[in-house]
Amino acid sequence: MNILVAVPVPALDLLTYRVPDGMTPPAVGARVVVPLGTRTVTGIVVEGAASVAIDEDDIKPIRQVLDEDAFLPADVIALARWTAEYYAAGPGDTIMAVLPPKTRGGRADSHKTVRVAMITAAGLDASSAAVTPKQRDALDILAGAPAGVPTSQLTARGIGADTVSRLVRNGLASVRQERVDRDPFDAFPFAATMAEADRRLTIEQEAALTRLRAMADSRRFGVALVHGVTGSGKTELYIRLSAAVRASGRSVLMLVPEIALTPAIASLFRQAFGDQVAIQHSGLSDGERHDQWQRIRRGEIDVVVGTRSAVFAPLADIGLIIVDEEHDGSYKQEESPRYNGRDVAIVRGQRTHALLVLGSATPSMESYHNAMSGRYERIVLERRVLDRPLAAVTVVDMREEYAAEGPDAVLSRALKDAVAARIERKEQALVLLNRRGFATAVFCRQCAGTLECPNCSVSLVVHGEGHARRANCHYCNYSTRVPAACPHCAGPYLEQAGFGTERVEAEVKRACPSARVARLDRDAIRRKGALGSLLSRFRDGAIDVLVGTQMIAKGHDFPRVTLVGVVSADVGLGMADFRASERTFQLLTQVAGRAGRGDQPGEAIIQTLYPEHYSIQLACRQDYPAFYERELQFRRAMRYPPLVSIINTIVRSRTFAGAMDDAADLVQRLRAESDRAGFRVLGPAPAPLGRLRGEYRAQFLLKGVNRKAMREALMAAVAARPDLQRRVVVDVDPVSVL
Ligand code: ADP
Ligand code: ZN
Repeated sequence: MNILVAVPVPALDLLTYRVPDGMTPPAVGARVVVPLGTRTVTGIVVEGAASVAIDEDDIKPIRQVLDEDAFLPADVIALARWTAEYYAAGPGDTIMAVLPPKTRGGRADSHKTVRVAMITAAGLDASSAAVTPKQRDALDILAGAPAGVPTSQLTARGIGADTVSRLVRNGLASVRQERVDRDPFDAFPFAATMAEADRRLTIEQEAALTRLRAMADSRRFGVALVHGVTGSGKTELYIRLSAAVRASGRSVLMLVPEIALTPAIASLFRQAFGDQVAIQHSGLSDGERHDQWQRIRRGEIDVVVGTRSAVFAPLADIGLIIVDEEHDGSYKQEESPRYNGRDVAIVRGQRTHALLVLGSATPSMESYHNAMSGRYERIVLERRVLDRPLAAVTVVDMREEYAAEGPDAVLSRALKDAVAARIERKEQALVLLNRRGFATAVFCRQCAGTLECPNCSVSLVVHGEGHARRANCHYCNYSTRVPAACPHCAGPYLEQAGFGTERVEAEVKRACPSARVARLDRDAIRRKGALGSLLSRFRDGAIDVLVGTQMIAKGHDFPRVTLVGVVSADVGLGMADFRASERTFQLLTQVAGRAGRGDQPGEAIIQTLYPEHYSIQLACRQDYPAFYERELQFRRAMRYPPLVSIINTIVRSRTFAGAMDDAADLVQRLRAESDRAGFRVLGPAPAPLGRLRGEYRAQFLLKGVNRKAMREALMAAVAARPDLQRRVVVDVDPVSVL
């Protein structure tokens, strides 16, 4: 008898193994140890009793079965298989994404343990004359705790290991090792200050809750798009709805883009549901994640809050799945399997007859399109709670600023004045620039040469000032000292151009010397714990101005922030990506929503070179419907999602010609199919990022309404060129085509 096994090895298909005579066939979802070439690996049984037309003798036997029952629930395996197929990824990659950390490679069930002391029957009866005073103290403590006391707690109360071991030797107490589940909430920097159980919902919240509850109670699959402006109280709504679904006996899955950036949400869920919440995200150690995962699998948990991969959490009987900030690009995994957690969540919801809630102040074009066409229920929260006004937005035309202040101006006069006013009033400000580093390019005034990455087709970015200056590649991590002379012409006229967050931080300090300024971007939070400490210092008022990348635009709720400055609102608009306008609109709307969440009204100042661009204009007016209509015209004219589906394919090669030729070959094979299957092929062309980590990249796009036909044609074309298999990257429903 044969079984199908998924092994966590990239790009591998499902493998067939034989169950040796005398061995009980393993359950679907169980882990098995199998030979693979010269290695031994742990895989997951995805299908039992497969009848495979291969000569029986060629099939290798499994070595060992690790689980009596399923380790992964059958519905999660089915979901993983759907994901592998839809996103054209190998089952190997997908199973890796679904397994919790630490079980990969078979090292399962590693847990932290503690020693717990317990009193015995003899100990309960022991007369005081028979023991020392210390032992008497210990027995009294233990007698009051029938389930036992960790020995570390006894030590803290002055009872040492020697006393305990004497009690054990005399039969008066026993000690056992007990597994503990590490609680990731211990690491959270601050508890939420909000949720009060008896808070009165606003009229809009109440109406939304009623509709959502009715949908959940029907126990039929349905999707609701909750389109609520920033500060309209969506989180409160999620918690009430989750409580209702939980009370009806079903479990809740809540996906968030990045827990580390929004610890308040996790804390609020913890406050509301206590121990019944598990948290799954990449900021946890493997051990912590593993513990949480095991608790979910054992059915001890009925609410899971997690990032993208939590969509595969082994949670049973799901009645509600919430995808918070559903438009967020971080739901898309940018390595194989290139799945979108939001879209996998919808499929999971469909299979478990759950209610899907997609929440956002700036819904993705896809979700809003589905809501407008009636496929999703649309629920609108138009007003902020307590009728707090949205921030007043001012646009500063930087062309005028350059004319007045010179071409080096980073901060406009309006923004400098506004920051200074906040410092005076003891309020706080956020200043956003979505670009890291100090200077974004180094060029030579003599030969016009630039400092480029030797591995990638991008300029190196300068980090640091003075002697600490380094030039780094943001794609491959190449790093070098900034040379004194031009590497091309040896001339001494190197100059820095462009600016990033480090420069903005320096400029804010210069403009407001008394301000306490800090920076929040990927460089600033490299050290473990740095992010939490920055956020809590800002919350506590130890920082006046926080400068940062889009990280500061995420769902934070800082009541004393009354000013948000955006230094270059158009950073993303120059990119050759069909979502550039959508992303700019989202970022500006989200960041403006961070101002004025407390009692004081907020203000946003947006600096740009393109004040008339629709994504900037409409973000300033916070007019989502108008943006949607305008953007939809563009998508329709250019045939982009949500009106068609696209698949992006990148072919990598050591040479430019190799990449282009191989891509051209695949395109030719596809063109033969495209008319019949009703899709178009665009390209091949050099990818916008034409060289990455030493490899050249050519690209082509498939566009059409029948995604399945496109994917199948593409897979057939790639299958005809097995030599390309490992050099082709297929991205179904790409979030970015760069
Ligand atoms: P959103 O997620 O829509 O941006 P939040 O859920 O963060 O909004 O709510 C914004 C603020 O309003 C939070 O501080 C929250 O505690 C508070 N809040 C939410 N609902 C209410 C309510 N009904 N009454 C008073 N305050 C509320
Ligand atoms: Zn590089």
